[in-house]
Amino acid sequence: MLKENGILFDVTLCVGCGSCYKKCKEVNSLPQANNDFLKDHLSNNTYTVVEQYDKLYTRKLCMHCNEPACASVCLVGAIKKSPTGAVVYDGDKCIGCRYCMQACPHKVPRYEWSSTKPRIRKCIMCNNRVQEGKLPGCAEICPTEATLFGNIDKLIEVAKNRLKDNPEKYYQHIYGLEEAGGSHVLIISPVPFEQLGYVSKLPKESMPEFTMRAMEKIPSVVVGGGVFLSAMYWLTKRKNQIAKEEKNNTHGN
Ligand code: SF4
Ligand code: SF4
Ligand code: SF4
Repeated sequence: MLKENGILFDVTLCVGCGSCYKKCKEVNSLPQANNDFLKDHLSNNTYTVVEQYDKLYTRKLCMHCNEPACASVCLVGAIKKSPTGAVVYDGDKCIGCRYCMQACPHKVPRYEWSSTKPRIRKCIMCNNRVQEGKLPGCAEICPTEATLFGNIDKLIEVAKNRLKDNPEKYYQHIYGLEEAGGSHVLIISPVPFEQLGYVSKLPKESMPEFTMRAMEKIPSVVVGGGVFLSAMYWLTKRKNQIAKEEKNNTHGN
């Protein structure tokens, strides 16, 4: 039986070395950046970033939500919650509608704007490596154990104990434990999370309103009628429209 895993990121331990950022690119065969890694953003070529806020460093990556809004809005089932805890996707199924981008409360999924067969890209918690018995690249390389990978229940316990044992060191909240229905990425920090650029004030429930916001943009025949052929017709049309828009944008640049 597969274990439910997660990642615990502790801001107090991160030294901003960028090893996680570089290793993530290596294990995912993504191009390494030439510029300062601290200035990079999540993109189809970057699944995690390290950001600096005064003297603190923090990471951004997919939160691997317990009830992922991105998956709930995906009409072709390209995104799925795996029994391992990772939210994974099948690039071959992706039809490029980008509703997951609108649905995600953490603003994570990115799009392959320049590809002729564009897909959504994001961290998949190194699900393939994990199933081979390896650690995710970022957790394997982290020299200070700021990024820890393991059983999600154990990580919750570790996070709670750190907060309890060091109340002067930590802001008393585990980000990701309850936000948007909870997630398999947890973050602890010495300062409130909005000071580190995280989306704050998310409700504790999962995010049907994010799903609905995205779904509102889909014609009612697709959402309400359940007419599969109409849906596929609309989605194909939408994909062609996106491709046309991208082509025009490229030519306009
Ligand atoms: S953070 Fe966004 S992309 Fe990641 S699982 Fe949650 S809804 Fe999906
Ligand atoms: S878990 Fe894997 S894909 Fe996700 S940020 Fe870490 S190295 Fe990258
Ligand atoms: S490898 Fe560890 S210490 Fe270095 S930036 Fe990443 S999380 Fe921070």
